[in-house]
Amino acid sequence: MNRIAIFPGSFDPITIGHQNIVERALPLFDKIIVAIGENSQKQKMFTLEQRISFIEKTFATHKKVEVKSYSGLTVDFCKKTDARFILRGIRNAKDLDFEQAIAQMNMALEPEIETVFLVNEPKYGAINSSIVRDIRANGGSTAQFLPHQFTLD
Ligand code: ADP
Repeated sequence: MNRIAIFPGSFDPITIGHQNIVERALPLFDKIIVAIGENSQKQKMFTLEQRISFIEKTFATHKKVEVKSYSGLTVDFCKKTDARFILRGIRNAKDLDFEQAIAQMNMALEPEIETVFLVNEPKYGAINSSIVRDIRANGGSTAQFLPHQFTLD
C-alpha cells in the first residue's frame, strides 16, 4: 500500500525549517504532498502561484514530493488524495499544545488518518514564515532562512 502524507501549511513562504521536515520525512513515506491551505483569513505576502513555485523549486529533485493547494477540511483533502498521514513539525511546547489539539480534532473526524510529528532540528527552531515576512517587509535580507533553490527577488 502507498504511504501518502500531506504536509499542510500556508508556506508564506516555505523556509529551510519546512524543507528540513519534508526531507527528513522522505524515508517514511512513498509520497509527500506539500499542501497549501487556502482557508486562512490571514493576509498573505506571496500569491498562491508564487508559494507553489517556491515549493516546486525547493523539491525539484525529489520525485516523491508534490505540491497542491486545497480549501476545506484537511482530513477531506487527505481522503481526496488517498493520504493516510498528516505530517507536522514541532518546534516548542507552544507548537505541541496547538498541534495536539488539531491532531485530536482530526482524529475525531477521521480516525484512520494519523498525524505524524517530527521535532525540529535545533538550528531551525527560531525560523518561521512570519518572522521572514517581517524581515522582508522591513528591507532585511531573508536568504539565509530560505531554501537555496529559489530567490525572492
Ligand atoms: P501554519 O500556517 O499552519 O502555521 P506553517 O506554514 O507555518 O503553517 O507551517 C507548517 C508546518 O511546518 C507546521 O507543522 C509547523 O509547525 C512546521 N514548521 C514551521 N516552521 C518550522 C521549523 N522552523 N522547524 C520545524 N517545523 C516547522
